[in-house]
Amino acid sequence: MTGRRILVTSALPYANGPIHLGHLVEYIQTDIWVRFQKMRGHECHYVCADDTHGTPIMLRAEKEGITPEALIARVHAEHSRDFAGFHVAFDNYYTTHSDETRLYAEDIYAKLKAVGLVEVRSIEQYYDPLKSLFLPDRFIKGECPKCGAKDQYGDSCENCGAAYAPTDLRNPYSAVSGATPVLKSSEHYFFRLSDARCQDFLRRWTREEQRLQPEAANKMQEWLGAEGENKLTDWDISRDAPYFGFEIPDAPGKFFYVWLDAPIGYMGSFRNLCGKRGLDFDDYWGKDSQAELYHFIGKDILYFHALFWPAELAHAGYRTPTKVFAHGFLTVDGQKMSKSRGTFITADSYLQQDLNPEWLRYYFAAKLNSSMEDIDLNLDDFVARVNSDLVGKYINIASRCAGFLVKFFDGKLAFAATKPLLDGAVHSGQTLSEYYEARNFSQALREIMAIADRINGEIATAAPWTLAKDETRRAALHDICSRALHGFYVLSILLRPVLPALTSRVARELFGMERDFAWNDLAALPTRVNAYQHLMQRIEARQIDALVNANRESLAPAADAHSPQRHAQHQQTQTAAPTPSPQPARGEGESGGAIAPMIGIEDFAKIDLRIARIVDAGHVEGAEKLIRLSLDIGEAKPRQVFAGIKSAYDPATLIGRLTVMVANLAPRKMKFGLSDGMVLAASDPEGKSSGLFLLSPDSGAQPGMRVK
Ligand SMILES: [Zn+2]
Repeated sequence: MTGRRILVTSALPYANGPIHLGHLVEYIQTDIWVRFQKMRGHECHYVCADDTHGTPIMLRAEKEGITPEALIARVHAEHSRDFAGFHVAFDNYYTTHSDETRLYAEDIYAKLKAVGLVEVRSIEQYYDPLKSLFLPDRFIKGECPKCGAKDQYGDSCENCGAAYAPTDLRNPYSAVSGATPVLKSSEHYFFRLSDARCQDFLRRWTREEQRLQPEAANKMQEWLGAEGENKLTDWDISRDAPYFGFEIPDAPGKFFYVWLDAPIGYMGSFRNLCGKRGLDFDDYWGKDSQAELYHFIGKDILYFHALFWPAELAHAGYRTPTKVFAHGFLTVDGQKMSKSRGTFITADSYLQQDLNPEWLRYYFAAKLNSSMEDIDLNLDDFVARVNSDLVGKYINIASRCAGFLVKFFDGKLAFAATKPLLDGAVHSGQTLSEYYEARNFSQALREIMAIADRINGEIATAAPWTLAKDETRRAALHDICSRALHGFYVLSILLRPVLPALTSRVARELFGMERDFAWNDLAALPTRVNAYQHLMQRIEARQIDALVNANRESLAPAADAHSPQRHAQHQQTQTAAPTPSPQPARGEGESGGAIAPMIGIEDFAKIDLRIARIVDAGHVEGAEKLIRLSLDIGEAKPRQVFAGIKSAYDPATLIGRLTVMVANLAPRKMKFGLSDGMVLAASDPEGKSSGLFLLSPDSGAQPGMRVK
């Protein structure tokens, strides 16, 4: 296999809201593809970053009484936690608020300006005279010019669906201050996409090498128009102060707007990774780079990634993307995700309900292909498919046969004929690698489940549970169980891009390997297995009901979901409070034991309970039950607390969340260091590991607030 050099990106989530299942379609899709490339032995780097600039971030920070830097640091921790929770393994997850991104933004701007592709023009925009602020469309509200509905945004009406300009609104007002906005003119910087050089370049670029999916290429033709036609317009790349972002070097008071800022975060994040890994930036981004560059995006930002971005890069002396892979939106039960229906499901709430992230990875993969079609998360089908495929077909093979190998044959596998097994595995590997490479994950999983069906059919015919009762038939028992476990080994290798955590356990615990599977493990036969340990639970329908209820109950009904995929500041919807972490009602009806003796209020008042933000969490070397927490309760320095919650929580999933701590508990010196306080968790009377639930406050609570 010749080693390819591949750089992969996913779109940058905006640092102003939680990751939800709509976002995860893209990150899971990309992660599966990247893991596949790495398993094949290629050099593949997967980078992303939070998109951190713009007016919504600035206003949100102001509202919370913190700096934009503090806001984006917090959201970065939350996003990182959510992605890690779903096994999305970036090589670098960075921020656009970085020196590296600024460097390339300034460089690209200077080069575009030098070749005459930047122009300054005066435009009129709504201005909030109270806040002294030009208002983005989403911060202007008024009555819909079509249907008269009140309180509609400046770009479209949620009541009748009409799209319009903010100046069309009747009785407009600023959503920031309530003031009546005034039209004010100001100088803006434009990238001249309408320039003949850009048009010519884009016509050539889109015809080359299948850079775009067929339906995307058709869209491009539509956008570009016929030869000689000039349908492209210039793009506004600046905003006026006050703004949170990068000031344009030769234009005081003007800032780079999203198009000359956010996507350059792809370069900034990779540049940062180069520093960490000793890679050469120009090998990947230089004009003559031979490396491959792929952008995974939602179809809503295709226009930008297929037109503006390549033109911007090419005329600033950088390479352009090898391909752009666009995907569709997520619907839930056939409808747009909705907060009132409880189907606007956050990544955090899913993990908080202890749902297995690999269930969702599997289901999304089973729905994803290389097209831009929307994919539907049908909640009943989700339960049925995961239970039937993963538990009923795949896991079932090992759970039925591994025990006999351990019990009767000391875990050793023996094969009557090895060649057909190896040939079959290598052939499956070839077929599957083509499906994965082409992002036809649904086809890959159909093929994998067909293999599982064949193996299960053989097991049913041979009936090892009957053979095991007859001592004279040990050879037949050994044969079917060995072949079944070889089949399970092959399936596990093929499923690794989709189920990284589960197949890692299979490799290490069941097959006794000291590493995860690589693609070329298909060319070998496993020789022994260890005792089978429980690998995966079935989903219960009530768990999904609880998830939907948690997302429904936790949200105010007012602000409904907009597009399930959000990218950048051009969709400025996030004026509302962050989605709170819903607390599920767990273990209902379980007894907490007898109530303790009565105390007076003065006794209770001695306990100083505070809201704490978990700013860091990690394993404690040599401690079975403990997690080390860093807790921010508004003091100069975070407190270190050791909490016995390791059996119930992965430290990575705790970072960023709020909990309640006892702040005036006498510090306790432990083997591992000083524990300065205690966090509160609920448990059953025996304190069984399965029942530990860390407390969380409702949304809006701030670190340091007293709990009474
Ligand atoms: Zn309307």
